[in-house]
Amino acid sequence: MEINSDRLWSRIQALGEIGRTKEGGVTRFAFSSEDRKATDQVMEWMKEAGLQIYTDSIGNIFGRRNGLEEGASVLIGSHIDSVVNGGKFDGVAGVLSALEVIQVLEENNEHTKLPIEMVIFVNEEGSRFPGGLMGSMALAGRLPKDIVDTLKDSEGITLREALNEFGLSPDKIKEAHCTKGKFEAFFELHIEQGVVLEDQNVPVGIVNGIAGPYQLVVEISGRSGHAGAIPMYLRRDPMVVAGMAIQEVERSAIEEGETIRGTVGKIEAFPGGHNIIPAKVEFTVDYRDIDPENRLRAVNRLKNFIERQCKKRKLQYKIITTQDTPPTILDQRIVNFMEETAEENNISSFTMPSGAAHDAMNMHSLCPTGMIFVRSREGLSHCPEEYSSKEDLTEASSLLLHTVIRTANGILEKIKS
Ligand SMILES: [Zn+2]
Repeated sequence: MEINSDRLWSRIQALGEIGRTKEGGVTRFAFSSEDRKATDQVMEWMKEAGLQIYTDSIGNIFGRRNGLEEGASVLIGSHIDSVVNGGKFDGVAGVLSALEVIQVLEENNEHTKLPIEMVIFVNEEGSRFPGGLMGSMALAGRLPKDIVDTLKDSEGITLREALNEFGLSPDKIKEAHCTKGKFEAFFELHIEQGVVLEDQNVPVGIVNGIAGPYQLVVEISGRSGHAGAIPMYLRRDPMVVAGMAIQEVERSAIEEGETIRGTVGKIEAFPGGHNIIPAKVEFTVDYRDIDPENRLRAVNRLKNFIERQCKKRKLQYKIITTQDTPPTILDQRIVNFMEETAEENNISSFTMPSGAAHDAMNMHSLCPTGMIFVRSREGLSHCPEEYSSKEDLTEASSLLLHTVIRTANGILEKIKS
């Protein structure tokens, strides 16, 4: 049984035309007309593959293929919404490979013991309604209670209004919550969005964990003054410590563990002028790791560093934690069995963590979860240049196919015993 790589590729290209930007990227926000058009297109293909289609109250779309027996289904899928001027592979590769897998089974008249379902998760990117991962959060019962009224887009439209306009049921979003046991397992194929696979010269990644972000906002305050009039020895300049702290973010990320990443992505000086010593500097820090202890060591090291330097230079500081999401460690049984499946099918793979967040993080709380990465060209993502080759997509989809067949025939039950 083989993936029809031409069909998979041409569908990815076709979906890339919906919401296409003049730069050749895609802008397709959740609950937009482009989103509607794209999901309609995928649903048409789902019907072609013989799937029974249904939508839950938050707008996740499912397609089901019955098994020979009743029981928990094997779920596969991803998202098709995008960021502003994003790429055509992010999310789409996962949805269309899921569809491809089920269609290949159907065409080969291959029946599995358990049912298989595909899913298009709604609002993964959070481009219009911030936060993202909304569909999988709803499934996992993790959505904040009054989110439909508190969450607004940039024009002040509430999630409730958007859901209503889309023909969904904002008062029933709780019903999207699934019980444990509904799914035998969840698998998501996704582009890597990084450079590890390219560096390893391997087409396919098997994800063993998803890094959790720990985010801080640091404010350092000193004394403003004229850039010419204040001699160096009399200054209390917060920018200097901010610069040193940024270097410390890099050093701590390099030294506190192999998988940790540290980033300062935004910095602002107040009042902000080329001839003014700033009174205050504010910057963000983002640490991520699949090992929470590395992350904590780096955070504490940075905090101590800032404290020491501010004391030395008579500056004040404030550090606010804005996010502390624990990393997700994926089930080792799943990782092992996927590695075996890849080997048996001559698919060369590399086991690695994911630095970016994915719907799989939420699904992990419901059922055993696995992720497959596809090599990205130059690690480019969330931009028109995002690219994965047809060959790599086929290899990764092939691993998904064989993983799904074995799971839907009850391999997890065997591993348990
Ligand atoms: Zn994505």
